[in-house]
Amino acid sequence: MSEIKTPTGNTYYPVIGLEIHAELNTASKMFSSSKNDPDEIAPNRNINPIDLGHPGTLPTINKKAIEHMIKIGLSVNGTIANFTEFDRKNYFYPDIPKGYQISQYKHPIVSGGELAGVLITRIHLEEDTGLSKHDRGDFSLVDFNRAGVPLMELVTEPVIVSAKEATDFAKELQLLLRYLGVGEANMEKGEMRVEANISVSKEKGKFGTKVEVKNLNSFKTVEKAIEFELDRMITLYEAGQEGDIVQETRGWDEAKQKTFSQRKKESSDDYRYFPEPDLPKLYLHELFNLEELKQNLSEVPATLRIRFKEQYNLAEKDVEIYVQNKHLAQYFEQVAEKISDLTVLQKASNFILSDIVYILENEENATLPNLDAFTEIVTLFAENKITSRGAKDMLLLSMTSMLEISPEVYANEHGLIQKNNSDELKPIIEKIIADNPKVVEEYKSGKESVLQFFLGQIMKETKGSANPKMCMELLKEMLM
Ligand code: ADP
Ligand code: MG
Repeated sequence: MSEIKTPTGNTYYPVIGLEIHAELNTASKMFSSSKNDPDEIAPNRNINPIDLGHPGTLPTINKKAIEHMIKIGLSVNGTIANFTEFDRKNYFYPDIPKGYQISQYKHPIVSGGELAGVLITRIHLEEDTGLSKHDRGDFSLVDFNRAGVPLMELVTEPVIVSAKEATDFAKELQLLLRYLGVGEANMEKGEMRVEANISVSKEKGKFGTKVEVKNLNSFKTVEKAIEFELDRMITLYEAGQEGDIVQETRGWDEAKQKTFSQRKKESSDDYRYFPEPDLPKLYLHELFNLEELKQNLSEVPATLRIRFKEQYNLAEKDVEIYVQNKHLAQYFEQVAEKISDLTVLQKASNFILSDIVYILENEENATLPNLDAFTEIVTLFAENKITSRGAKDMLLLSMTSMLEISPEVYANEHGLIQKNNSDELKPIIEKIIADNPKVVEEYKSGKESVLQFFLGQIMKETKGSANPKMCMELLKEMLM
């Protein structure tokens, strides 16, 4: 949906651009040797004089963080700058003890690129700030564990046209960072934060005045805040009050489920950016082997999506489950190495996505089934030797380490091998027919539904091991 029509017959065009921050996972911080540990709960544990901006301290660059940035840039087909440098972004706030944040201004590490159909302007590297806590009464506290943690900022072009497209982009970025192993980007933990720039125009291709909504810390709030803003702006337009739409920073009020004005937007001039004199300029093409980094890049979600569809001919929604669950995708691919027949492999996939996922979620100590056991179960099922019920039962056993023998042996010992042999089934069916003359009468007078009763009796007699399709055929034949 790239345009919004109102009941009054007007059409509006939303334009959205995102600025997304995400912490990168490194052993130490961006410019100091303090530990970078997002799970540290004791405040001010991972800090040192550099993070606290003590006079006379000097920062050093974390090479791993730069490498992470290059990987991200390569994976979105962005341009990796050769020359790059850090800049001081000056502003005063208690969580920024130096009085400036080390960021990047004119020479970001990555320029351009594309993700989930959205054009990327730039991706630069900076340091995270400390975390202010204002919820303790009439004073505030600052936790500097987060101060100096490597933080990437990705800026998109103003090309997004709906709240859904915006959240899809943010989700895809989170997934990408996880695939690349450069960050967990958990929004609830504040490891990823989204700012949405939103405007509405009455003329396609023309930009209206934008607002920036900050501090969106879940995908749901990103979506709700954008929808709220589009609605607010369109209502103002409709009332002839578009003059009230001003360029400003707004926040999201979770309790009231609405955005509110925070401050009129500062311009970049206010930050008096200038190159950080305490850090060296970098020539990335000399410092890193870009070719090698590109070659060793892990497969990204977009590529996996295409490959799974083409290589295994799986349904789109199934592919998406694998894309969202990398360990499940890896398991499936191990199975695929053992099962070359595509139709059998698709049966394997059905077991993985329904039964195995269900058991993993519901059985406390369940693990993925042993590969050989799973392959054997699927093969037995595909060859019609066991029913899907039998396959499911053995899956549960193997996933809870209770299948100590091979599935085939187990199936034999427990009567799970389907009776596909009509010579074996016939006497059983004969006896059931003989025992139920009344039901036979009903069938003969046209009541076809009694076939289900007979099938039930056969299953009871064979402990579920009879091939139902074959039973039906035999039943109809023998009841004639
Ligand atoms: P600023 O100088 O205010 O930070 P930028 O031009 O640097 O603005 O853009 C910041 C973000 O705002 C980018 O994500 C960009 O795509 C987005 N943006 C710019 N203009 C608009 C607009 N008219 N409507 C929505 N988003 C916009
Ligand atoms: Mg900005």
